[in-house]
Amino acid sequence: MTKVIYPGQTIGIIGGGQLGRMMALAAKEAGFRVAVLDPAMDSPCGQVADIRIVAAYDDQQALAELAEASDVITYEFENIDYEGLKKVMDYAYVPQGAELIRITQDRRIEKMELEKAGVPVAPFVIIESVEDLEEQVGKIGYPSILKTARGGYDGKGQVKLTSPEDLSEAAELIRNTPCVLEKVIPFTKEISTIIHRNAAGECHILPIAENIHVNHILHQSIVPARVTHTIEKKAEQAAKQIAEHLSLVGTLAVEMFVIEDDLIINELAPRPHNSGHYSIEACNVSQFHQHIRAVCGWPLRKPILWESSIMVNLLGQHVAPAANQLTKHPEWSLHLYGKKEAKHDRKMGHITVMTDDLERTLFELEETGIWS
Ligand code: ADP
Ligand code: MG
Repeated sequence: MTKVIYPGQTIGIIGGGQLGRMMALAAKEAGFRVAVLDPAMDSPCGQVADIRIVAAYDDQQALAELAEASDVITYEFENIDYEGLKKVMDYAYVPQGAELIRITQDRRIEKMELEKAGVPVAPFVIIESVEDLEEQVGKIGYPSILKTARGGYDGKGQVKLTSPEDLSEAAELIRNTPCVLEKVIPFTKEISTIIHRNAAGECHILPIAENIHVNHILHQSIVPARVTHTIEKKAEQAAKQIAEHLSLVGTLAVEMFVIEDDLIINELAPRPHNSGHYSIEACNVSQFHQHIRAVCGWPLRKPILWESSIMVNLLGQHVAPAANQLTKHPEWSLHLYGKKEAKHDRKMGHITVMTDDLERTLFELEETGIWS
C-alpha cells in the first residue's frame, strides 16, 4: 500500500534553491505545509516555506530536525549528502530513496547504470589519474570531453580535448578528482525528457523539450521539440526504460543528444529540471505539481500541452534589461527566484511565452536584444 500524504501535512525539502521554491509553491497551492533545509536564511525556497532550517546539507542534527517537522522528505538537487540521506531514511519517510542520489551524483556510476538500463551513452572511459588519461585517451580519441565525476553543473568541471596539446589542462582537472572521458558527439539537437513515477508504478512523461545552450548554460527550451516522430518515440522509450531500471519515485530529467534518427543519453537529474519550467504555464500539470503528486502518493496526471512554448532563462546580466521591457510584453510569464545579487551567469529567473508560432516568437525574443 502506497502511503498518501494529505494537505495540511508537511513536505520537507532538502535544498532551498529555485527548484525547491517552485516545488514549494506547487505544494502550498494544495494546502501542504513546507519545511526547507538550506545553509542560507533567505534562500529562494526559504522565502516561501513555512519552516526554515538554516544549516549545511550534511548537518545530521539539522536533517533530523527537518525530518521531525516533516511527514515526507524530498530534495531539489542531487549533490546532497548520500550517507546523511540514508540515515534520515531510518526514521523518516523518503519515498524517493537514496539510491537515485548515489547513482546520479557520480557520472561514473550513472553511465554504468545507463548501460545496464540498455540505453545508448557516448563512448567513455573512467579516468582516475593523469597516467590513466595518457594511457586511455587513445581509446576515445579527439575531440573528447573530460568531466569531473562529481559536482559539475552548467559545464563547470569540464575540459574539451581537441588535441594532445590540451592534455596538460586536463591533467589539472584530474589532479583534483576522478573523471570520465567521453567522446564528443556531433549532435544535431539536444533534447530532454522529464519523467515522473509514483510508488504505485504509474508513469508519465512531459512533452519533450528542445534545449539551446549558450556557454554551456541552458538558454532556451522550445516545446514541443522540433524532432521527428521516431525520435520522440525513442526518447520516451529510453526515459521509461531508465525510470523502470531505477525504480524511480519522483522526477527524473533525462538529457539526450539527437544525431539524425538516433539518440544518445547524456546525463540524468533526479529532480525537476530547468528545461521543464515551461510546464508551469503550458501544461495541465507542471513538473513541480507532478513531483509533489508522486512523492505524496497521489495518482499522476496525464500531461497535456496547451500550446507550444518557449522558456528563456534570465541570468544575472539579463534581469535589468528584461525588467525594462516588461511593460511591453503581456505575453511574458515572468518568474524571478528571489535571489538578491544578480551575478553574471547566475540563474535569476526565466520567462515563458506560449505561442502558436514558434519561429516568430523565437525571432521576437531575439529582437528584444536582452540575450545578445
Ligand atoms: P552539466 O550539464 O552537468 O554541466 P553536461 O554533461 O550536460 O554537464 O554537459 C554540458 C553541455 O556540454 C551539454 O549540454 C552539451 O551541450 C555539451 N556536451 C557534454 N557532453 C558532450 C558530448 N559528449 N558531446 C558533445 N557535447 C557535449
Ligand atoms: Mg547537463
